[in-house]
Amino acid sequence: SLWELDTTERADAYLTSLARPIRLQNYIENNYSDHSEPSHWIDSFNPRTGELLAQVPRSALSDVDHAVDAASRAFPTWSRTSRQERSEVLLRIAGILSEKKELFAVWESIDQGKTISRARVEVDRAISNFRYFATYILHEEGAVRYVDGPVSTMTYEHRSPVGVFALISPWNMPLYLLTWKIAPCIAFGCTGVAKPSEVTSMTAFCELFLFVQQYSDRRLIRKQVLGEVFRQAKLPPGVMNIIFGDGPGTGSALVKSPRVRGVSFTGGTATGIRIRQDTVADIGKHLSLELGGKNPTLIFDDVDLAEAVPLAAQAAFENSGQICLCGSRIYVHRAIYENFLSKLADYVQKNYRCGETIGPVVSREHYTKISSYLKLAKEEGAEFLTGEVPSVVAQQGFWITPTVLSNVRTDSRIMREEIFGPVVTVSPFDTEEEAIELANDNPNGLASILMTKDLSRMRRVGERIDAGLVWVNCWLVRELGTAFGGMKASGIGREGGSQSRDVFTNLRTLHVR
Ligand code: NAD
Repeated sequence: SLWELDTTERADAYLTSLARPIRLQNYIENNYSDHSEPSHWIDSFNPRTGELLAQVPRSALSDVDHAVDAASRAFPTWSRTSRQERSEVLLRIAGILSEKKELFAVWESIDQGKTISRARVEVDRAISNFRYFATYILHEEGAVRYVDGPVSTMTYEHRSPVGVFALISPWNMPLYLLTWKIAPCIAFGCTGVAKPSEVTSMTAFCELFLFVQQYSDRRLIRKQVLGEVFRQAKLPPGVMNIIFGDGPGTGSALVKSPRVRGVSFTGGTATGIRIRQDTVADIGKHLSLELGGKNPTLIFDDVDLAEAVPLAAQAAFENSGQICLCGSRIYVHRAIYENFLSKLADYVQKNYRCGETIGPVVSREHYTKISSYLKLAKEEGAEFLTGEVPSVVAQQGFWITPTVLSNVRTDSRIMREEIFGPVVTVSPFDTEEEAIELANDNPNGLASILMTKDLSRMRRVGERIDAGLVWVNCWLVRELGTAFGGMKASGIGREGGSQSRDVFTNLRTLHVR
């Protein structure tokens, strides 16, 4: 079973032994469930080889309804469980994930193309998602907040879970981002239907195995760890359901379902706009949108280049540039610009090698999109300090050499649009004011990176950048209790700590005479 495939060698051997690609099944009410249109599949490819890896169900409206039914049935009871009870389930899940960490890392790496070391980091973060909310709900000030109201009344605010949530995630950090939604959804007493990206559904399927192995009574699985964990975990059927499918069909049907009372979505800005349009008439539906970024990295002339160059490179090329928080626009003070540029090119050539320290991009479609941006860069006269325009058709696997571009116009699409691949632009600036202007001259406002040793500049600049996250002399540091999300086109709302609580709960004020 997949449960045993926790090394790359075993997983590879398993994949080669298969006569046909792995076919995924939906997971509804703690049971595997075939989708209603047995001939409707989406092909999912191995990014390293370009070969067919899995077939993902293209779930229809009736499948969505089936999952929403299950979540709706589970809600009245689950929403009234104690925080202690929910916390224990979350910890139980975290414990099982920890035991099976390597399994998830291997499949996350195969499915998305990320390096195994990157995958391990993300699985650790997925585990933290459950641990964090397990603790949060026990230690927050309480579902009730008493207020010093008029003497004749007792006045208090009370929170209750919203209802059924649609949890929709993208392909770049499949397990981490899906669990970033699943964990608070369960923690705050909501139930949900999760839909991972159709491009990388494998790890959710592993996750599915995990849930099924722990909580269902299928015979195949009972042989393994089920009995003991099932007894302890007690995640009731229907609390969390997982369905697979595309965006415009399955995802859209889920979001529009009138019984879905909230949507927590992470993905592209265009999809976020679509979801907002699709839900606009349903005023009470909670909406949390974590969208795309085109994040600036500002490097001032007081930095130590031996530190600034590796940090800027990591922020640009981690996970082949496929993290919404990647710093894809570097701006450097003119006094150190030429020096920085040659050191960066040198560093990237030595340290970011395809197949060793950097993986392929996720899919053929994404490869084609990135290569068309690079073709445009060439036509517009950009200088390629590393990398090149990739061939139009991916030969074997979806490999793109990390590319450092200079001499790109401010109004070029290369500079304005999210490429979401191993491509970074580098441009000079002269003054602090100009640096802020360049940083903010973009429709997005997700994250930013600031490198300087000047403490007052950290505040002067840091507090004026249009970004929900500002990292100073660091990148990707995350504290789950702080707000996460973007300004401008990068999203609506925040998640993390009490911000997640606000997404998944309703607040009412009571005046009791
Ligand atoms: P995407 O928007 O194409 O898809 C994301 C998810 O939405 C998928 O599961 C997809 O099936 C679904 N979807 C598509 N159309 C839908 C619709 N009409 N209704 C409902 N669901 C629909 O994004 P992607 O290509 O998978 O991911 C890359 C994008 O995600 C990038 O823009 C990246 O910046 C962004 N992202 C943002 C964050 C963040 O936290 N802000 C994190 C990671 C990725």
